[in-house]
Amino acid sequence: MVMYKYMANIAGTCMLIRRVLIWSILFVAVSCSSKSDTLPENNGSQGGSSDAFMRRVEVTNYVEYRTGNAPLIISVPHDGTTTDAALVLRTKENCPDPSFSTAQDIYTTELADLIDSVFRAKTGKYPYMVIGRVSRKYVDFNREQKYAVVAGSTKGVGIYNTYHNRVKAAADSISKKNGAGLLLDIHGHSHEIQQIELGYLLKSSILNLDDATLAADENYAYKSSIYNLVKNNKSGSTFTALLRGTYSFGSYLYKNGLACIPHSANLSPGDSPYFSSGEITQRHGSSQGSGVIDAIQCEFNRNAREEVNRKNTAEAFVAAVLEYMEKHYKL
Ligand SMILES: [Zn+2]
Repeated sequence: MVMYKYMANIAGTCMLIRRVLIWSILFVAVSCSSKSDTLPENNGSQGGSSDAFMRRVEVTNYVEYRTGNAPLIISVPHDGTTTDAALVLRTKENCPDPSFSTAQDIYTTELADLIDSVFRAKTGKYPYMVIGRVSRKYVDFNREQKYAVVAGSTKGVGIYNTYHNRVKAAADSISKKNGAGLLLDIHGHSHEIQQIELGYLLKSSILNLDDATLAADENYAYKSSIYNLVKNNKSGSTFTALLRGTYSFGSYLYKNGLACIPHSANLSPGDSPYFSSGEITQRHGSSQGSGVIDAIQCEFNRNAREEVNRKNTAEAFVAAVLEYMEKHYKL
């Protein structure tokens, strides 16, 4: 009798798993074929047990969006490969961007996928994910619209807006449910110095100032992409402490084995090439009192993205994110 019940339970569980699989496949199929711009909504509890949460995934050739139930957004704008004859190629002439580029941030999607998986394994929760699938030759999601797509390219503008609308949807959802959160914008640089460049919307010339100078003028904190955290953090940390102190994000990365800048033992870039951030961090971060989602641009060096190191990079990165958020965020 006991054995019979056990067998019945197994049969029931198998049936349930099969149903879930069939519905998942149907959902992805609908998402792939849908031409509408309808946002996929989270299903189940956002803040409670992840058992009640079912991630929704929207996949197109241009932008991929995965919903989440953690106060963290991962954005990956520069690793897309989709080409499309209906889109207009960007050039220095038709997109007069002072820092024009069509370079692909190779392996950042693979790295972000690992970050997603490791985060889930460590916490039981999902970050929100926004991934550019279209080539940067047509759309650059990390530039102002006037430099991002060729003027008059309606399809290009639509794709650009979709990316930013998805980041905004994730940010709005987190703002409503958690009251604060963090956006990490993932890139890959080809600079010689093998370190992750953390961008807070503060140029080299500002980072090269000493802590006393940065602390003396509130404008530096106000303009930074973590201004909301500066105003409201549970550790009572100051702006410079959050930027490059012992408990800054950079110091947590360094402690976990990832070379980076800035942190407490590597304060400023000096004359070395350094990316201070772009449109995604500017538009969706908390600079100048804009919302409650902080943003940090994370430019990964080549070695950190290579296959042989990628898993370690993702493990160390997620460990640092969790320590940083636990230390400073009132979640
Ligand atoms: Zn990039």
